Amino acid sequence: MLRGARSERGPGKPDREPNGARQTDTQAVYDRRRRFFRAGETSEEGDRRALEDRLRRASGPLLQSAGMRIAVLSDIHANLHALDAVLAAAGEVDAVWHLGDVVGYGPDPDGVVDRLREVDAKGVRGNHDAAACGGSEIDWFNPEARRAMEWTRAAISDATRAWLTDLPERRTLETSELVHGSPREPLWEYVMSVPVARANLAVLKSPIGLHGHTHVPVAYLEDDGRVEVVGPDGGSELVLRERRALINPGSVGQPRDGDPDASFMVLDPEGGTVAWHRVPYDIEAVQHAMQSAGLPASLVARLSVGL
Ligand code: ZN
Repeated sequence: MLRGARSERGPGKPDREPNGARQTDTQAVYDRRRRFFRAGETSEEGDRRALEDRLRRASGPLLQSAGMRIAVLSDIHANLHALDAVLAAAGEVDAVWHLGDVVGYGPDPDGVVDRLREVDAKGVRGNHDAAACGGSEIDWFNPEARRAMEWTRAAISDATRAWLTDLPERRTLETSELVHGSPREPLWEYVMSVPVARANLAVLKSPIGLHGHTHVPVAYLEDDGRVEVVGPDGGSELVLRERRALINPGSVGQPRDGDPDASFMVLDPEGGTVAWHRVPYDIEAVQHAMQSAGLPASLVARLSVGL
């Protein structure tokens, strides 16, 4: 899809902003997520042929641009199929940045770290990365996350552990501050509301704050003291217009906004734009690898529904 193109999910909704982004109700996403887990739903069997069609359509670079292009990835969570689909879709970029939680949940931590090294990705440490290196963060995990983390700790190579250990908690690149959770609590805080976003925009040292952790793509924009929440459609572009911003690219390896496609963002710091993208990938292949590794069934199932 060309830069700035509309989502391929149908005609524009009336509430969409002129730049293609739309107002979002993050609470609605979290309500759906809670309902899913309470109901104990299981994944639907994917239609293999439909998936293959979508993968074919998605192959090739999504964007073409003369400006600087930085692929911003977060919460890859040891999902190499999703990472490779995202890197292929991003096409040629000037840099790859990541916002932590490189490992945890997924079946291929070494493969993901190797790939990030290959593309010389620069980034920060997430709570799962810290736990994988032996940190006490594991004590805060729910039972499924903890089981997956115990598997991850045993599975990773010394080289992967060393690479994860070297990740800083925060990092400033170009005009952006990179953290996993939030600028004031880099490892743990979830930015899911305007008051929390406002407090973090107040301590942000750069014009743009890039964060992950919630696995939900969204931007909080500060304009004359007001904080506005904007959510993306796939392929939509947001023009920052000098506004300070806290921006989440969504999750590559375990999306939680109801869309199972891998989520990522392309940032042009010079042009002051970000574009979110969704990329289909072979979810079933990842699920089979997770089952073979003995990872928890609930973590396998949620990939099908993006929750
Ligand atoms: Zn995460």
